[in-house]
Amino acid sequence: MSEFILATRALKKAFGAHKVLDGVDISVPRGEVVGLLGPNGSGKSTMLNAISGFLKPDAGEVLLSGQPVTGLESHAIARKGLIRTFQLPSMPHRMTVRDVLTAGSRTGANLGSIFKRAQQESEIEDLLVTFKLDHVANQPASSLSGGQKKLLSIATALRAQPQVLCLDEPTAGVHPKLRNDIVDILTSINARGVTMVIVEHDMGFVRNLCKRCLVLDRGSIIADCPPEKLSEDSRVVEAYLGK
Ligand code: ADP
Ligand code: MG
Repeated sequence: MSEFILATRALKKAFGAHKVLDGVDISVPRGEVVGLLGPNGSGKSTMLNAISGFLKPDAGEVLLSGQPVTGLESHAIARKGLIRTFQLPSMPHRMTVRDVLTAGSRTGANLGSIFKRAQQESEIEDLLVTFKLDHVANQPASSLSGGQKKLLSIATALRAQPQVLCLDEPTAGVHPKLRNDIVDILTSINARGVTMVIVEHDMGFVRNLCKRCLVLDRGSIIADCPPEKLSEDSRVVEAYLGK
């Protein structure tokens, strides 16, 4: 088994003449929580899209546990255990918050027995409480605030029991008090062995969760270091922190 659960090799993606990813190499060891940082427009979301199959890279490779998954459809990559959330989650109109979580649980699950069904229902109720969505469980998911949609999208991602969880700005729009709760939830998920790649601007959040940060700028990774070392890197300060 590969030492790295997720890796990219010389990954490239351009939009017209704009080379957003210009040969990006990352290597994420199993069980690690990695922060993916960089200025706005540096290609962080594009990177998650290319890794998770929502966008086909122009060149290079994406490897899951050493096996190439480059160019596979997003659902095929999800079935292999890599689940991602979106920067701006969209929610189906007619489904309640509880429905969205329940639908998430059906993928690949065997609901054959009453026991399993009851177990899943109790897991969903637990997630609703954990993510402080229990009081809105019967409301349409589309009526949630931006922050609540983020929470629901993370909760739904967890229903798929990912091996690798990629989160695109999980705390943007989330009430500051809830951010610490998300840190605690993700810490406990990671303690169960789930590897994470987290795109996030809140450096307090990043320091609490990530042992290592990658900084993307002008098409490539310009730094790979623990969060507390970022401010010592002049390229990072110039490209990102200084702004
Ligand atoms: P980040 O998430 O780091 O803010 P993005 O990955 O969203 O950055 O975008 C990187 C660059 O690629 C931006 O200049 C953006 O305008 C451009 N871009 C992203 N997606 C598309 C697309 N589908 N078509 C054209 N340009 C895009
Ligand atoms: Mg983005």
